Amino acid sequence: MVTSVLTRLVPDTTVEVHAVCLDIDDTLIDYDGSARSALAALVGHDGAWPDWQRMTDEHVARAISGEFDYDTMRRVRTKAFFAGRGEYLDDAEVFRREEHRLAEMERSLRVFDDVVPCLDWLRATGIKIAAVTNASGAHQRAKLAAAGLGGFFDHVAIAGELGVAKPDPQIFLTACAGLGVDPGTAVHVGDRLDVDAVGARNAGMHGVWLNRTGRWSDVPAGVAAIASLAELPELLVCDLSG
Ligand SMILES: [Mg+2]
Repeated sequence: MVTSVLTRLVPDTTVEVHAVCLDIDDTLIDYDGSARSALAALVGHDGAWPDWQRMTDEHVARAISGEFDYDTMRRVRTKAFFAGRGEYLDDAEVFRREEHRLAEMERSLRVFDDVVPCLDWLRATGIKIAAVTNASGAHQRAKLAAAGLGGFFDHVAIAGELGVAKPDPQIFLTACAGLGVDPGTAVHVGDRLDVDAVGARNAGMHGVWLNRTGRWSDVPAGVAAIASLAELPELLVCDLSG
């Protein structure tokens, strides 16, 4: 077993990689897919998804800033969402609908097909693995465990526990410190170009943008792009014969 891989992620240079960090939602777990089907089950159709996403982003930012905890955030968000559609719910009805939505999400939780083979490969190389996520602690740990992924990670850095969120360099540096590696020898992979890949690059790591659509035009300097986690081994391990 080795504890590093050599990579040419940096052009014309060969560097050692000692750790790989991965985002969770929409990188490992199809969060949008399960959230979207759970919302459709709640409102009876799929058309409300853009409004829901926008309101969720706004409320998650308020939770991360400390305005309220994650459970309160969900109830405030759900109440505001239905109020925006002309339904003014009392607290008991908000609670009932949110419980129903969460049960639907749990039922439809799906790990992307390329995740376990990739994590198995990373494990086999012996390099360290961390999850770096912008959500709350209990929520994300429970989700990793429910998805059967909890055992793969040497460290989990969670914005809700740290009080700092991606793309702030501090959360990336905290993850590297938790793994005991230098940021310059660590890679972070995530589905958000700005929050994950550029944020990691700005923290001194190697940023990799996982864009499952496979469609991209401008990828910023110092960032690599892949369309599947199946491409990660090839990206990380350079061909020394080439
Ligand atoms: Mg994500």
